[in-house]
Amino acid sequence: MPAYDPNNIFAKILRGELPCYKVYEDDKALAFLDIMPRAPGHTLVLPKAPARNMLDISPDDLAHVAKVAQKVAKAAMATLGSDGITVQQFNEGPGGQVVFHLHVHVIPRKSGVPMKPAASEKEKPEALAEMAKRLSAALAGG
Ligand code: 5GP
Repeated sequence: MPAYDPNNIFAKILRGELPCYKVYEDDKALAFLDIMPRAPGHTLVLPKAPARNMLDISPDDLAHVAKVAQKVAKAAMATLGSDGITVQQFNEGPGGQVVFHLHVHVIPRKSGVPMKPAASEKEKPEALAEMAKRLSAALAGG
């Protein structure tokens, strides 16, 4: 497996060199909206530790990412009126991974509404800003 590349796009977001629509942050993880959501509220949960994916992250950091993914999923259910949550996490190119800093996709779902294809359509900045506001308020409250 290749080494971690500190210039990947999510590493730049973690360092504050690129912007994001943040929904949650603590000392070990950051969660922000996917700019090409497969459904409204599609959130990415990342460890702050530099890991490509599940194959090189420490078990403790992976466990923390799972805890944050659960928080985001519960906040989406409570706040967005979601009917379910799809969780995805891809490892290496053949596993479907495109950006090589570990991230877990938390995708709120509505009954009968299929997910859009991956990375198919950029969401409007206003819609992302409003969604980040709603989810971050829910996460701050619970
Ligand atoms: P994966 O590596 O798990 O296949 O997917 C990478 C995800 O990152 C895609 O869902 C894509 O829409 C998202 N993405 C790509 N570039 C950016 C970006 O600059 N900002 C954000 N927030 N998401 C991105």
